Amino acid sequence: MSQHNVGTSIALPDHRARKRFGQNFLQDDNIIRRIVAAINPKAGEHIVEIGPGQGAITTPLLASGARLDAIELDRDLAAWLQSRFADVAGFRLHQADVLKFDLASLTTEPHSLNIVGNLPYNISTPCIFHLLKYQPLIHEMTFMLQLEVVQRLAAQVGDSQYGRLGIMAQYYCQIDHLFDVPPGAFHPQPKVTSAIVRLTPHREQKLVASDTAMLQDVVRTAFSQRRKTLRNCLKPLIADIDPEVLPVDLGLRPENLSLADYVNLSNLLSTARQEQ
Ligand code: SAM
Repeated sequence: MSQHNVGTSIALPDHRARKRFGQNFLQDDNIIRRIVAAINPKAGEHIVEIGPGQGAITTPLLASGARLDAIELDRDLAAWLQSRFADVAGFRLHQADVLKFDLASLTTEPHSLNIVGNLPYNISTPCIFHLLKYQPLIHEMTFMLQLEVVQRLAAQVGDSQYGRLGIMAQYYCQIDHLFDVPPGAFHPQPKVTSAIVRLTPHREQKLVASDTAMLQDVVRTAFSQRRKTLRNCLKPLIADIDPEVLPVDLGLRPENLSLADYVNLSNLLSTARQEQ
């Protein structure tokens, strides 16, 4: 990592952490170093940081010489970040809600964005679903999340955490659970353990859904009643289909189907819908 001057640290005037913005600020230098090493920023690469807060990882990321677009919702922190990094070439601040932010406004270059963040836990799942829409533009994503959410992202058929989030994330990305982070690494301390996860979009899609909206629909509908059989929970989608042609056993539960099973089922339903 080459070192670029990002100026001396300017103290943030008293900032009371705002619960509604999921503010738990990293304060452990060793953990910050491990996260930055996992991100492995490089001069010239295009980083997008979600929720930079008080700049705990922003400063070392910019020191690598990377370009960095920061998306921060809190107006006070955004104003402070803007002045803190005003002189740093390649820094751009967007005072915005990441859930409404159009990543395509930052680049048209495929696989170019390295997206990172200690995500606000209250919006982590919708945030991941929002970012997955931009998969073709993304090189890699490295996030701090609640450990429980990382376990859901990485869960395989048969795991108790297996469900919609993991299936859709694994459709688009390879998931690597890197390491856990204890509550003491933050101020204020969260109640739960956190973890760092890497999501690497597939360069070549191994399983291809002919209609990803249909895949989303099938998975959402199935897991809306995960204890019921597929025959019951998929009723709204399969009512007009001959059960004999379906590529899955309707006596199973949603948690018993693999990602490949969901893709096959969704492709069959898309074809059937087109023929109707
Ligand atoms: N990156 C900092 C750190 O590690 O110390 C702060 C992390 S804190 C867990 C989450 C950050 O996301 C806060 O700065 C918060 O204001 C910001 N945030 C919350 N909701 C947001 C949203 N919808 N869009 C963008 N930023 C948001």
